[in-house]
Amino acid sequence: MMRFLPGLAVLLVLAAPGLADSVTAPAPTAVPALPTDKPPAIAPPRQVLTVEAPTAKPPPLERTAAEIPGPECVAAHRALIDDALAEARRRLPEAIRLVREEPNHPHIRRWFGDAPRKTIRLTLELTLARLEDMTGVDLRCNDPPGCPGGRFAYARERDMVLGLCAPYFRARMDGTDSRWGILIHEASHLAANTRDHAYRPNGALTLAKENSARAAENADNYEYFVETLPR
Ligand SMILES: [Zn+2]
Repeated sequence: MMRFLPGLAVLLVLAAPGLADSVTAPAPTAVPALPTDKPPAIAPPRQVLTVEAPTAKPPPLERTAAEIPGPECVAAHRALIDDALAEARRRLPEAIRLVREEPNHPHIRRWFGDAPRKTIRLTLELTLARLEDMTGVDLRCNDPPGCPGGRFAYARERDMVLGLCAPYFRARMDGTDSRWGILIHEASHLAANTRDHAYRPNGALTLAKENSARAAENADNYEYFVETLPR
């Protein structure tokens, strides 16, 4: 019997580690703890993917203001126009103030040469009044006959049409040829009978140097004068 006792003891010792193993079974659960730690890390990328997918899809389904056909201006057009109107109404008074209070300011010379300050101020004031009250202006958006390729906008004094084309609705709210600056250009035609003697910043700057009287009649000179006003 005694010979078996050590054997039993061995069995007990063997059993003990076995028990110890089953007690330290948390170790195996600590291993699953790693997999449960990983999934959360995988989950965020999954969320990013599911967020990206829906936002990537809608744009092709939803038409932007530039793509919505006219001639009627719908809510998507009006939101962009109203935004631009508000900015033009904020910026024009700053330009008028400069002409009135600092008639020799280099910024005025730059865009209008030595043209009469009164003419410049009056044109800006009439343009502001027009943009502050658009009653009677026939706004048209993306009207194909008025929008040959690349045109931002147009104004027709005869029947007070102000037309806005696809590139207008893609224009930015800063820099030159901004959405609000274009409204100043077109409203100056309707309100102050301005002309298009020259286009683009370079054309307008040259006009100011070479023929200031014409610069004071030119719609782009007013647009860029306000758009590049030092603030
Ligand atoms: Zn024009």
